[in-house]
Amino acid sequence: MEQELTSFSKEEIEVETDRLFVSLGKLGWTREDCEIIAPLTLEINQLKKEKNAIILAHSYQRPQIVFGIADFVGDSYGLSKAAMEADADTIVFCGVKFMAETAKILNPNKTVILPNLEAGCSLADSITAEDVLRLKEQYPGVPVVCYVNTSAEVKAVCDVCVTSSNAEKIVNNLPGDTVIFIPDYHMGRNLAESTGKKIILWNGKCIVHDEFTEQHVKEVRQTYPDVTIMAHAECDPSVVSLVDLVVGTQGMINYIKEHGTGTYMLVTECGLADRLQVEFPESKFVGTCMLCPYMKKITLKNTLDALKNPSAEQIIDLDPETIERAKRSLEQMFVVEKGPVSAF
Ligand code: SF4
Repeated sequence: MEQELTSFSKEEIEVETDRLFVSLGKLGWTREDCEIIAPLTLEINQLKKEKNAIILAHSYQRPQIVFGIADFVGDSYGLSKAAMEADADTIVFCGVKFMAETAKILNPNKTVILPNLEAGCSLADSITAEDVLRLKEQYPGVPVVCYVNTSAEVKAVCDVCVTSSNAEKIVNNLPGDTVIFIPDYHMGRNLAESTGKKIILWNGKCIVHDEFTEQHVKEVRQTYPDVTIMAHAECDPSVVSLVDLVVGTQGMINYIKEHGTGTYMLVTECGLADRLQVEFPESKFVGTCMLCPYMKKITLKNTLDALKNPSAEQIIDLDPETIERAKRSLEQMFVVEKGPVSAF
């Protein structure tokens, strides 16, 4: 439990504890647990105002971040778009490095801070810009599609970026019957199945989604016959083939909003089920979930420190040419999403 010495009054702590307990209590936190973190969330929320900063938190973040200090909670691209619309000088990104970089690419004039530099990603870290250039040499003329879980340098040498929710549509809208898809091996194989195109794959994997097996899904289906099972497209095709819906995190949220109370298994990181258990308390979230060690590198304490006095390394710094070129691959996403394109 994160705790620090406080300069707030007893009354202020009490009010903040009540506010936290409304959400975190639904996840089994006690009032005492909430009281311990109240000084931290109070100070962070006060500093945000003083510094004209906003906090963006990915749905996989710890619940005390999601419900204690975040201004926006969502998936990486949704959060970057939220940042573009917000009138803030500073963005503190409670997520992983490639997400903070995406926010910087889309908001080059804002200061973007990542509280812990160790918040990487096994997918983003699996490929470099040089690797992509080699693939391009090997397969000249074949469109290069990069998943948003890539570094800014990798995005800068790709043709079009995709998210888990629009990848299928974009691959279908590209010219020809072959695409290079990097870096997610499972998602690439899932795309080959759903689009019928030839996908040249890279061997990157999300260490979280790669952990799920057919057995996990079968056991839950047997125990809860009326369960709706949704899996992230970063899961192995053998898992994907057994579920009711293959969607990204935002797609899972939208489905539950539309379909209402039910029993759900979310084949993804644990943070999403925590968030949705608070937002949809009547629904039941069952089955296994996995923790992302990178996402959990972000804490209230390091967020407070970064907001107070960020080190040079915590401030995302990309060279203007990388920003410009990476932005192009993100912008292409909106173009190709709209309909078939004949060439790049
Ligand atoms: S959940 Fe997977 S894809 Fe997301 S940050 Fe963690 S390792 Fe990367």
